[in-house]
Amino acid sequence: MYADVILPLPLSCVFTYSIPVEMQDKIGRGFRVVVPFGSRKYYTAIVTKIHRQPPGNFAIKEIRSLIDSTPVVTEQQLELWEWISFYYLSAQGDVFKAALPSPMTPTDLQSGFIPKSETHLRINDAAVTAAVGRARKQQLLLDEITRFFTETGRESISKREAKELAGYSPAALNGLLQKGILSPFSVEGSRLRHKNAPTRNPYPLSEEQQKALDAIQSLFSDKQTVLLHGATSSGKTEIYIHLISQLLTEGKQTLYLLPEIALATQLIQRLQAVFGDKIGIYHSGIDEQERTEIWRKMLSETPYEIILGVRSSLFLPFRRLGLVIVDEEHETSYKQQEPSPRYHARDTAIMLAHISGAKTLLGSATPSIESYYNTQTGKYGLTTLNERFGKVAPPLVRLENTKDLRRRKKMKTTLAPALMEEIDKALENGEQAILFRNRRGFAPMVECTACGWVPKCNHCDVTLTYHKKTHRMVCHYCNASYPLPAECPSCRNSELKSFGAGTEQLEEEMSQLFPGAVVGRMDTDTTRGKDSFERLINDFQENRIQILVGTQMLSKGLDFGNVGVVGIIAADSLLNYPDFRSHERGFQLIAQAAGRAGRRDNQGTVIIQTSDPEQPIYRFITRNDYEGFYHSQIMERRLFKYPPFTRLISIVLRHKDEREVESGAAAFFHLLKQSFGDKALGPNKPVIGRIQQYHIREILLKINNQFPPTQVRELIRSAESRFRENVHFKQIVLYYDVDWV
Ligand code: ADP
Ligand code: ZN
Ligand code: ZN
Repeated sequence: MYADVILPLPLSCVFTYSIPVEMQDKIGRGFRVVVPFGSRKYYTAIVTKIHRQPPGNFAIKEIRSLIDSTPVVTEQQLELWEWISFYYLSAQGDVFKAALPSPMTPTDLQSGFIPKSETHLRINDAAVTAAVGRARKQQLLLDEITRFFTETGRESISKREAKELAGYSPAALNGLLQKGILSPFSVEGSRLRHKNAPTRNPYPLSEEQQKALDAIQSLFSDKQTVLLHGATSSGKTEIYIHLISQLLTEGKQTLYLLPEIALATQLIQRLQAVFGDKIGIYHSGIDEQERTEIWRKMLSETPYEIILGVRSSLFLPFRRLGLVIVDEEHETSYKQQEPSPRYHARDTAIMLAHISGAKTLLGSATPSIESYYNTQTGKYGLTTLNERFGKVAPPLVRLENTKDLRRRKKMKTTLAPALMEEIDKALENGEQAILFRNRRGFAPMVECTACGWVPKCNHCDVTLTYHKKTHRMVCHYCNASYPLPAECPSCRNSELKSFGAGTEQLEEEMSQLFPGAVVGRMDTDTTRGKDSFERLINDFQENRIQILVGTQMLSKGLDFGNVGVVGIIAADSLLNYPDFRSHERGFQLIAQAAGRAGRRDNQGTVIIQTSDPEQPIYRFITRNDYEGFYHSQIMERRLFKYPPFTRLISIVLRHKDEREVESGAAAFFHLLKQSFGDKALGPNKPVIGRIQQYHIREILLKINNQFPPTQVRELIRSAESRFRENVHFKQIVLYYDVDWV
């Protein structure tokens, strides 16, 4: 008998091994095995198929050992892996690597790698007084263990830890065990905390919320996917909580997806208050060992009933999945950029739900054009929640024309006078202010005042960003950092000026303008540390910071109760990208930012500073008109053949030698053209044409979405294999980005 297996390597195909006789009745799909591969290397692989078909006529190798007694990857997971690898044109091995926590797939076979369950001990109160008696050493150890429980807040201790406490008297530990004072039990994933009891019931829903919930449930009877379009603060999260409770009573699991975990602190607390330890948190910030433990718990008889996590939690084994919630479904961070598989978590969630017989609920105040389009064609159901919870009026949105103000010499600072006034007013009322500044393209740079020389990274085609605090210039692509030169390397002029107002300058300016207020800043530089993000949010929530300056990071999913005014500086910079999505993004960002104003009981003001107030997008924003915005966008998309009317597949080629990549891209493009004609575009040198020494070329396929995916993939793969036939191009790195965003 033979087994096909997936190896954790960037390889598209499965490999076949023979199964030793004694293993034949113990092995199956989803089991881990250890197999030899290459010269003297062993890997952990996953079995995908057992069969009797001997492969070709080369010497077949044998499986070396079987790790599991039950599958660690479920049937549904394997099906999802296959779909991801097919749809996103990524190697099965890449999907495998992304899915399984690394401790589950060791390559070093010497270490004892099979994660085992651990024995834990707990105190059996009934036995204590009766039995300790005069055994002094046992009493001392028992006291130690009790102190351990008070100090750690835990209710059990692992046998290993207890042995450490017992030190030189292991006999005392054995004594306590024999008398039944300590009772052992086995724990899978010993480090998972089990101490959160629920503290409240779900809030009763408002009439509007109840209507939306009823609509969602009735739409689910004939749609697999429903979009909840609800204004910020309309109480979407509370509706999710009710849905999850409903599923719990049916014994079904929920996966709650978030774009980024950094924003989840508030949400985690809220969900834990209602669901206690039924909820598991899964994201890349937790260590690999804990990920492994969560995986094992999900396979056990008592899995988490709710998983809250980022895109990678799609890969967990769910046995009774009933619902996937994709919160803030419009967020582009749902798309994995690097490394492969470059999957879109929203779309993959819908596929996961489909495979599992579950439903998907997408939620957003500013839905993606794609999802909204799907509601218009009837593919998805749609429910709308217009009112803010508590019927607070939506914020008042005003435009300030900075071009005009400048002409009239009224722009004395970065802030328009009206925004200054609003901030003053808010501070007087004990309220807070948030100021947004887009980061992309607005990072501070250094320039020679004489010849205009601008420093660039040695490894990438990227202008360096100047960091005042460290007095260094940094590449935001590869993190290389450089000292500020004493003079211009090009003309030797000694006057180098830093310009371009980033958040750092804005923070400084605000401190000067509002000396009575504490100013905080939130961007990738100030939130790099482990807890710095949470600390900033807490400080703001508890009013230790009155003015918070930040990048788009600040606009997402945070719930503040005391924000009187939100200012958006240089809003135009959000719109001026040569990208068909730039208006969609700009709209989402501004509308989400505006949503941070005045959340609980007062109306709040939003001021948008723009030099081009005639842009139609601002009309939609000030009128809070999502539908109008959607219709204007969908017309353009149809006209210019962009998604959702087409699918975009970006093909990226990289090589250290620019001529190599240039000729490779031309050759591959020629091959693609034979199959795709004018649907193949390029090859282009991207705006950033070199990253970490690699020169880059891109080809874009813009394929009508009626074209069957299977056929598209066959054509691409056959072009690729013809391309690879030329030994000349063997060294070129090539990858695909499907549904490129
Ligand atoms: P969204 O997710 O749409 O932004 P939230 O669910 O966060 O909105 O609700 C906004 C605020 O209103 C939160 O502070 C939340 O606790 C409160 N809230 C929402 N629904 C209810 C309810 N039914 N009862 C009490 N408070 C609610
Ligand atoms: Zn110069
Ligand atoms: Zn660089």
